[in-house]
Amino acid sequence: MGFRAHHAKEIYVYANSSVGSARSNGGRKPVLRRLSARIDKYDYRLDLDNMVLILKLHSDYEVKLRLITSRKRIEKFRGWSNYELVVKYEDGEFWVSVYFRRTIKPLKPKTVVAIDLNFDNVTIALFTLNGRLFRLKRFKTPHGKILTHKIWIERIQKNYPRSWRFIKGVRKAIEKHGERIKNISRDYSHKIGDLIAELALKYQSVIILEDLDELKENNKKSREFNKKLGLWFYRRIQFCIEYEARERNLEVVKINPKGTSSKCPRCSGKLVEYKYRVLGCKKCGFIGDRDVTATLNIYRKYISKYSRCGAPGVALNTPKPSENTSGMRGNQDEAMPTSSYMNSYES
Ligand SMILES: [Zn+2]
Repeated sequence: MGFRAHHAKEIYVYANSSVGSARSNGGRKPVLRRLSARIDKYDYRLDLDNMVLILKLHSDYEVKLRLITSRKRIEKFRGWSNYELVVKYEDGEFWVSVYFRRTIKPLKPKTVVAIDLNFDNVTIALFTLNGRLFRLKRFKTPHGKILTHKIWIERIQKNYPRSWRFIKGVRKAIEKHGERIKNISRDYSHKIGDLIAELALKYQSVIILEDLDELKENNKKSREFNKKLGLWFYRRIQFCIEYEARERNLEVVKINPKGTSSKCPRCSGKLVEYKYRVLGCKKCGFIGDRDVTATLNIYRKYISKYSRCGAPGVALNTPKPSENTSGMRGNQDEAMPTSSYMNSYES
């Protein structure tokens, strides 16, 4: 059994880089942490009709694999182009991932959805192109639950500072909490991504997110994001929103988050805490719910940056303090199937 020529070449390149990194690592024995291989287009054939994948391994030696994913999922990728295949060896099992891609042409937006993410809530505000806020939804995040599991892990590690890796029961307990964190974050980000994309599709909206890469360390939001959990969960939520949006041919735009939670959306003055989760502007008297104010600022940033007629002096219909409560309530008829940590927010 001989390897195909380009396989031999790839194996050589991979081995070479392992040796190189081991050398730069002080000459310690190289460890292969991940066993995965990219399969070239010429080395496999994907037959979606019969749900079979044929891998050409060695010269004249083929392996037929049955795709175990659902027929429905296969149908989804018909018409996309398949560009890569990765074989992975993990925990004694082989896994094959098939990658597809597709070029999308985004729809011309008729409305704008501004998304504010913070520790407690995901706030979704729908605006018309001339600045009228016409729909507001708010969902609690599972950050609190994730944090609880994280604290448990830290507590266990603290109790067994040196030995936790080696005692099976202790390690298992840590793994269990880690598993919970993984499931909670995965379920939540998928659901919220799907919900936002569905809403945006219904109103043919462009989706506006804050660009997390542009968060400066002294930024108020950056401090809040990093305070307890770090950025990974926010990134994950954003990834799902973008993914679900692209699937529906919707455009996603990221704006610089600077000032979105500290500047007055009416006069750009500095906002101060007026009462719990309510901000006020001393300069113009604006008072608004913290999350809603952030969405107003996110919307404004998008309009002033991307509107074709420059920055129109949009008169925002900022909710008055008395309107806050009604405006805050998530619309029951559109609420997503409720799970334990995704109930509409009501204050
Ligand atoms: Zn103001």
